[in-house]
Amino acid sequence: MIAVLKRNASEEEKQKVIDVIKGENFDVHPIVGVEKTIIGVLGDQDNRTKLKEKLMTMSEVEKVVLILDPYKLTSWNFKQEKTVIDLGDGVKVGGNELTVMAGPCSVENEIQLMETAKIVKSAGAEILRGGAFKPRTSPYSFQGLGEEGLKLLAQAREETGLKVITELMDIAHIDVVCEYTDIIQIGARNMQNYALLKEIGKLDKPVMLKRGMAATIKEWLLAAEYVMNEGNHDVILCERGVRTFGEETRNTMDLSSVPLVQQLSHLPVIADPSHGTGRWELVTPVARAAVAVGADGIMVEVHPNPENALSDGPQSLKPENFRLMMDEIKTIHSSLHSFESRERKIAYA
Ligand code: PEP
Ligand code: MN
Repeated sequence: MIAVLKRNASEEEKQKVIDVIKGENFDVHPIVGVEKTIIGVLGDQDNRTKLKEKLMTMSEVEKVVLILDPYKLTSWNFKQEKTVIDLGDGVKVGGNELTVMAGPCSVENEIQLMETAKIVKSAGAEILRGGAFKPRTSPYSFQGLGEEGLKLLAQAREETGLKVITELMDIAHIDVVCEYTDIIQIGARNMQNYALLKEIGKLDKPVMLKRGMAATIKEWLLAAEYVMNEGNHDVILCERGVRTFGEETRNTMDLSSVPLVQQLSHLPVIADPSHGTGRWELVTPVARAAVAVGADGIMVEVHPNPENALSDGPQSLKPENFRLMMDEIKTIHSSLHSFESRERKIAYA
C-alpha cells in the first residue's frame, strides 16, 4: 500500500508515520520523484487492513491507497520515474540511448575474447557479455572457464573500456563474480531460484534478470520483486524468448512482453534475439523489431568464428553481420522519438 502524507509534512511528522508502519512489522520504501511525500509500505498482506485503519486515523496522513497489483517495487505505483542504471563512464541502461551488450556466449580463451571485445567496441557496443559459469543442458558440454574466464573479461574491460556482464549461477560464486563484473546476469534457468535472488538483492551491484524458460510476465516481475525487496533496486529485465511448441526456432521471442512490461514497470527492458531465436540469420531482423517495440537495449551473441564456438555457435553473429545490425538498429532507434509523443497522446486521450 501507499501512504500519502498531508502537504508540507515535516520530517518529524514523516518519521512518526514511519514508526507506526515499522511498529506493525511492515517495511518502508521511500518513493522517489514526486512532489508530495509518499511512503511505500510492504509486508504481510493479511495484516494490511489493520495498518491501513491505523494510518487513516493519523492527522499526518492524507490518504492510504491499497495496491492490488501483485508487483509493488517494480511497478509505476512505487516509482514514477523510469529506472536508469548508471554504470559509470557515460554507460547507462534505461536512459534515452539504446544500450548494446554483445560478445560470445562463453569466454573460451584470451585471443577469442580480446578479438571479440575489440570488434563489438568498434561497432558501438557499450557492454561486453561472456559466460564464465555456463548453465549447459548437458553435463558433458563445455561448462565455462570459471574464474579464469572472469579474469579475461576484466582484462578485456581494461583494454577496451567496455563494461562487463556475466552470469552468476550459484550463491557460492557471488564474491568471485562480483569482483570482476559490472552487471550480474541471472539466467533463464535461475529466474525462480529464490534463494539466489534474495542473496543478490543484498548486493550493491546491478542485476540483469532474464525471463524464465516458460515464465509468465507476473512470475518474471515477482522474481524482480525478490531482488528489490532485499534492497537492490538496480534491476534490468531481459526478454530472451519462451518455450513453445515450435521447433524451428530455439524459443519463441515474445516481443509483446517488452512494451507490456514497460507499461507495468519502471525497470529497463533488454531484448536478447540470440537466445530468442537460436538462429543467427534471424537475430538481426528480430533485433530490429525489438528496438522498434521500444526495448531499452539489445543483448546479442557475437563470435569471430561461430563454426568453432564452444557454445551457441549457430546463433552467434559474425563480426561483419554484427556491424550491419548495429547500423540498422541505431537508425531505427533514432527514428523512434517521433512515435513516442504519439503514444503519450493515445495514453492520455
Ligand atoms: C546466455 O546468455 O548465454 C544464456 C545461457 O542465456 P539464457 O539464460 O537466456 O538461456
Ligand atoms: Mn548463449
